[in-house]
Amino acid sequence: MSVFDLFRLDGKTALVTGATRGIGLGIVEALTDAGAHVIMSSRVPKPEVLARFREAGHKVDYIQGDVQDPAVPGRLIAEALELAGGKLDILVNNAGVAQHGDTEAFPAEQYRRLMDINLDSVFRACQAALTPMRKQKSGVILNIGSISGLVSNIPQRQAAYNASKAAVHMLTKSLASDYAEEGIRVNAIAPGYITTDMTNGGLSDPVWGPVWRDMTPMKRPGDAMDIGAAALYLCSPASAYVTGEVLVVDGGYTVR
Ligand code: NDP
Repeated sequence: MSVFDLFRLDGKTALVTGATRGIGLGIVEALTDAGAHVIMSSRVPKPEVLARFREAGHKVDYIQGDVQDPAVPGRLIAEALELAGGKLDILVNNAGVAQHGDTEAFPAEQYRRLMDINLDSVFRACQAALTPMRKQKSGVILNIGSISGLVSNIPQRQAAYNASKAAVHMLTKSLASDYAEEGIRVNAIAPGYITTDMTNGGLSDPVWGPVWRDMTPMKRPGDAMDIGAAALYLCSPASAYVTGEVLVVDGGYTVR
């Protein structure tokens, strides 16, 4: 057996939220390349994305759902289990939103929406996935956190976003500790600045863009496949002895 075999996911099924663009799409590309059946989910259906994977010979399915609705994460897990024939091997909680602004004036409605999507939906999806994974005595959960859960980015102010991601990191560690003996691994990735719809505005902003690049030792943003590759490691048997880890993929941002 070669070490490359440890990165294969043949016969495994993964549910990925926020899957049809940005970082989620990079994760889907990595997991399907490794042989996984991937169930993609997003708020806005994009049949053309699904078609592209199918034309390339990958096994993919799709479930629509707005994870801000408290009932949706549980429904996604239930429907994914049906599509997967009763066994869900991997859950990737990637869907998320960013919102900047001064804390004194941060609208209550925006705060609620951000926490509902970035944190509460992750908690609910983990809750729903743990039951089948405990029965299976195996499972992998990967949560997408952020360097913003580790340091306070500048120059933009984003206290609520930072708090949501720090909570995702601690949720990850707590679940890893609680369920390790049942064969369930729970990890997170903390991406630095990655070029996606979420960051395009900031990266092209004449003030923010240069600060973001200068503060990154590699002087450039990453791309979705940088996170896809890390996700493949954490979702595959290559990381069989890794749980509770928050893997930072940030071009060096947090070393300074
Ligand atoms: P994008 O804005 O490019 O994509 C966000 C994804 O989340 C979309 O697929 C979107 O679905 C989905 N989503 C948002 N709200 C909901 C909702 N209410 N219900 C269901 N799906 C939803 O973001 P990124 O790809 O950049 O971000 C992905 C994750 O990575 C997020 O958790 C983000 O916080 C995190 N992250 C990103 C970084 C970056 O630099 N880009 C850095 C650190 C962390 P739809 O397409 O249907 O709208």
